[in-house]
Amino acid sequence: LLQLAAPLGVFGWVYSSLKQGLVDMEKMFELLRVDREVADKPGAQPLQVRGGEVAFENIRFGYDPRREILHGVSFRVPAGKTLAIVGPTGAGKSTISRLLFRFYDAADGRVTIDGQDVRDVTQTSVRGAIGIVPQDTVLFNDTIYYNIAYGRPGATKEAIEHAARMAEIHDFVMTLPDGYETKVGERGLKLSGGEKQRVAIARALLKDPPIMLFDEATSALDTATERGIQANLRAASSGRTTLIIAHRLSTVIDADEIVVLEKGRVAERGTFDQLRAADGIFATMWAKQQEQQNLAAQSAAPGFQL
Ligand code: ADP
Repeated sequence: LLQLAAPLGVFGWVYSSLKQGLVDMEKMFELLRVDREVADKPGAQPLQVRGGEVAFENIRFGYDPRREILHGVSFRVPAGKTLAIVGPTGAGKSTISRLLFRFYDAADGRVTIDGQDVRDVTQTSVRGAIGIVPQDTVLFNDTIYYNIAYGRPGATKEAIEHAARMAEIHDFVMTLPDGYETKVGERGLKLSGGEKQRVAIARALLKDPPIMLFDEATSALDTATERGIQANLRAASSGRTTLIIAHRLSTVIDADEIVVLEKGRVAERGTFDQLRAADGIFATMWAKQQEQQNLAAQSAAPGFQL
């Protein structure tokens, strides 16, 4: 396995995780599979990050060339702004995040960061510029401290606490008898979805990346958690170019622009207010989600019985 992993960019991660026997094999192979697709150009230079502007220009892509998934997708996220991508399951939202991270190369079109084609610069520098808050955060069977520090090996205690404060998890950690030394993960304290997400945000913030990619969890959340996550998102995106792959719509209200993806095409775009007023796909999705939330709230109300 190590021989297999050696030429790949995820090697360091895989190796350190393997060493600790912490990451399940399936996740690892999933990563290995995606990573084999691209390689640095000979003599590729590191990305020169300025503001962190991200642009997709007429991107066409299919995992299998016979089945195109993205049919000419374009958008631009100016430095420091927030773009949310919404749309039905299977529309191609997560595929966009994989292309930005350069797990794959587009068949046509360009992905650029500050005007530089991601294919022309080193993969390491592209990935170093992007902090990811994934759908499912893998927590290691180790302390909270370790789990945050993982974002930047060798980070000082001050830097870790600062990241934790920004991710709004510090106060929670301080309520635990063992504080940052509390063991979490499968064999330790089980964190809630929202708490795990904050650890992931702290981890990503510790990298201090110019670009933040937020892949929202698909699972349904109660309204309080939902609000908490919106706050988490604000903490993570402040002062950074942010892409939100949104599976729920309440997290996109404050985005500078929302792109509605449908079957691999941009079907609508605009601000939250513009899209609601346009009375199209987004407005319909919004109405449906509100209705579901109201139903959920009713069934959760005290005294309610089936
Ligand atoms: P979304 O995030 O909007 O739900 P995805 O980007 O995950 O959509 O998927 C878009 C399409 O690409 C789907 O039809 C899905 O089956 C396909 N797809 C996603 N990942 C892979 C993969 N690793 N290999 C092949 N097809 C994939």
